[in-house]
Amino acid sequence: TASSSDYAQYCQPRLSEMLNIAGLDKHYFKGEGSRLWYHDDDGSEKEVIDFLGGYGSTLLGHNHPQLVTHAVAMLQGGMVHHGQLGMRRHAGELGRRLAEHMQATTGRPHMVLQANSGAEAVELALKLAEFGKRARIDRLQKRIDGDLYEAARASSEGLSMRAADLNILHDLLGEAASTLPLSEQFALLTEFNHKAASARPVLLGLERAFHGKTTGALQLTNNSSYRQPFERLGAPVHFLEPGKLDAVQDVIVSSRVHLYTVLESDGELVLQRQEFSNVSAFFVEPIQGEGGVHPLDIGYLQGLRACADAHDFPLVIDEIQTGMGRTGSLLYAEQLSIRGDICLLGKSLGGALAKISAILVDEEWYEPEFGLLHSSTFAEDDYSSSLACQVLDVIEQEGLLEQCASKGRKLTEALNGLQQTYPEVIREVRGAGLLLGLEFMPREQGSTTLRDIFMEGRLGYVIAGYLLNKHGIRVAPTLSSPATIRLEPAALITDEECQKLMAALTHVCEILRRQNAYEMSNY
Ligand code: PMP
Repeated sequence: TASSSDYAQYCQPRLSEMLNIAGLDKHYFKGEGSRLWYHDDDGSEKEVIDFLGGYGSTLLGHNHPQLVTHAVAMLQGGMVHHGQLGMRRHAGELGRRLAEHMQATTGRPHMVLQANSGAEAVELALKLAEFGKRARIDRLQKRIDGDLYEAARASSEGLSMRAADLNILHDLLGEAASTLPLSEQFALLTEFNHKAASARPVLLGLERAFHGKTTGALQLTNNSSYRQPFERLGAPVHFLEPGKLDAVQDVIVSSRVHLYTVLESDGELVLQRQEFSNVSAFFVEPIQGEGGVHPLDIGYLQGLRACADAHDFPLVIDEIQTGMGRTGSLLYAEQLSIRGDICLLGKSLGGALAKISAILVDEEWYEPEFGLLHSSTFAEDDYSSSLACQVLDVIEQEGLLEQCASKGRKLTEALNGLQQTYPEVIREVRGAGLLLGLEFMPREQGSTTLRDIFMEGRLGYVIAGYLLNKHGIRVAPTLSSPATIRLEPAALITDEECQKLMAALTHVCEILRRQNAYEMSNY
C-alpha cells in the first residue's frame, strides 16, 4: 500500500520535512473540478478548494468529465500510444489546430513541435533558436568564403587591393601577413572569419525569469538558488532588468560579430565588413509567473519585438504558465498584440491528464532538419496529443477564455479591495485573468517571529498552511517570490468559491495586521 512515510523516506526527505512543518503534508486522494480531498489525522475526509491549480496545469479542473471519458475511450479502444516511426495523426491534428490558431492571430504560418514538459519545451526552443542562428551564420560565412576564394583568384590574375583596405587587413591579420601574397592573406582572412564566427552565442533573459529546471532551461531561470549549483554546466545567459530597453540595446551592440569579405569593385579589390548579432534568442514570460506574477510592460515587449526584427534573433515567448486561455486569450501575447517567433505552451495543454508541451514556431525560424535531430521516446504520443485536442475543444465549447477573463476581473477587483483595506499587509495585487499574485509584506514594528519567517522566505508557505488547515483553501507562493501567493484556480471556479477565498484571506490580513504569529501557525 502507498504511504506518506515511503515518500518521505525514499523520495523527498527534505521536502516532506518542510511540508510537515508548514502543515502541508497531505495526500490528496480525490480530485474533481476545483475541489480536492485528503484525510485528516483522525481519518475524516477534508474537502479543499484548489487555488493552487497544479501550479497552473489544472485550468480545466481535476478530472474534467469530457477529458476522462475521452482518456478512458482511448485506453479501452486499443489506441496505439507508442507508434514511433510512423505517421502520428493525433500529433498532426494538434499541430494543425495550434498552427491555424497562430495563423489566424498573427497572419503567419507556423510549425508545431511537441515535448513532454515545460522545461523540455524550453530546451526545444533553445536548441531550435541556436540551430536557426547557426544556419544563418553558416550561410553568411559560406558566402564570404566564396567571395574570398574569388578574390584570391582575381588577385593571382593581377588585381590589387585598395591601399587603405590593405592597412585595415594588416591590422586584422598582423603585420607579418603583409609580406605574403594577397591570395594567402585571403586564406588567413578566411581563418580569421571562422574563428570570429565560432564565438559562443549570447542568450538573453530577464531578472526574475523562470523557465524550468533542466540543465539548459535552468540557465535562463534567474533564481540563483536554483541555478548557481549547476552554473558551470550550461551556456551563460545575460539577465537584464525588465523594462530597461537601453540595456538590451547595449548587450546587442556588444555581442556583434564582424566578418570581413573582399569584393571586386571598379577593377580593384575592396575590403568590406559584415556584421551579425550573436544573440541566439531572447526568452521572456509576458507575465513573470514564478518570479512573483509580474506582468511586463507592453512598451518594453514592443521594444523587444523591434530588437528581434532589427538584429535577426528569435523572440521566444514562454506562455507555459500564461497560455492555454488562463489570461483570457489562448496566448496572453495576443491581448498585447505582441508576436513571438517561438511561443511555448505546457501545463494545462494536457488537461491535467497528460504530460505534454509544445512550441509554436514561426516558419521563418523553423528548420526542417531540426525535427530529425531532436526527438524523444514519449513526445508526439497519440494519447497526449489527442487529449490536448480535446482540451482545445473544451476551451471552445465551455467559453473558457471569456470565463477566465471575467472571473479574473472580478477576483482582481475583490483582491484590490482587500489590498486597500490592508495596505500595511498587502503590497500589491498583480496579474491577468486567472493568474493572479498577491504580495504580502513584513511590518517594521511587530512580531519578530513573523519578520524572521518573512526573511527566511517562508511567509507564503506559512500562509498556505494556515489557509489549508483552517479554511480548506489550497494556495502556494510563487517559486522565486515566496511572499507572493499565486492564485491559479480552474476556469470553472465559482463566485461562491472566490468569496470563501476572500473571507479566508481577510482572516490572514487581520492576523498579519495584529502580527499574531501564534494564531497563524496554530490551527
Ligand atoms: N516556463 C514557465 C514560464 C513556467 O512557469 C514553468 C513551470 N512553472 C516552466 C517553464 C517549466 O515547466 P515544467 O515544470 O513543466 O518543466
